[in-house]
Amino acid sequence: MDGRFLVGLIGANIGTSMSPALHEREAGRHGVRYLYQLIDPTLLGLDGRDIGELITAARRLGFRGLNITHPYKQDVVKHLDELSPEAALLGAVNTVLFDGERATGHNTDRYGFAQGLARRLPDVATGHVVQVGAGGAGAAVASAIAGTGTRLLTLADLDSDRANRLARAIMRSSGTTVEVIAPADVSGRLRQADGLVNATPLGMEGHPGMPVPADHLRPEMWVADVIYRPLETELIRAARHRGCRVADGGGMVVYQAAASFRLFTGLTPDEERMYADFEAL
Ligand code: NAD
Repeated sequence: MDGRFLVGLIGANIGTSMSPALHEREAGRHGVRYLYQLIDPTLLGLDGRDIGELITAARRLGFRGLNITHPYKQDVVKHLDELSPEAALLGAVNTVLFDGERATGHNTDRYGFAQGLARRLPDVATGHVVQVGAGGAGAAVASAIAGTGTRLLTLADLDSDRANRLARAIMRSSGTTVEVIAPADVSGRLRQADGLVNATPLGMEGHPGMPVPADHLRPEMWVADVIYRPLETELIRAARHRGCRVADGGGMVVYQAAASFRLFTGLTPDEERMYADFEAL
């Protein structure tokens, strides 16, 4: 590697992504030349079926790697030569690394959520956690939660097949028991829970609302959200108001970016500095 890195992000509606700034600022401080290119297939007149073509093209054009985001994290898997153990477990890839002819898929979202939670809520109890949302982000969250030694993870998603698939994957790979419940039953399960995580789009720009009524949040609980636009979702605001300890979605963004930067460059990012960048953006 000659100290020049061409990388990119493939996803839909990524025009306002913070990833270029997060990566390029950190690269600048390491004294390497780094270009982070946004590639939105929908703007190129392409769709999900063409993701394999884009991966091949990027490799041939000399990209070091790619980040992959919604809605391609699962579709990309079949176009790769190899998967890291985490990407294989989650069935989802957010980072592709090229090495000659080979493309390897990684998943840094799990690390992102785990680090974000540890930074904002160090030492909170995670014996029983309730999680709403079992999609792409939800899979990474559930795996990260299980990694904290959680005894019981209660999982709810409007798509119960999705929730059951994720529950099986987590139980195969950890000592955590995962129970799947209907979204309507979440409020009742909060009575005994240590914490609640929102991994649905509810609360993001264009998706107002929150996954549970505010009056079911107990002050002893912690509450985390994966949404970062806005950083203060209705859920985070309500939880803070009721006295809960909270973690917004910013940590996951910053730490997944830092882990991808490390994969692309082999350099050790300064995660606190990247966090400060995120807060300033
Ligand atoms: P996704 O579409 O893959 O999954 C969302 C899941 O939520 C779906 O399975 C859906 O059925 C479920 N759901 C929706 N409304 C629900 C409800 N009311 N009750 C129960 N389940 C419900 O989406 P995703 O890629 O997982 O993204 C989810 C959110 O996470 C988005 O807002 C995205 O911006 C955010 N996200 C944040 C980060 C980060 O770094 N902080 C990373 C990835 C995604």
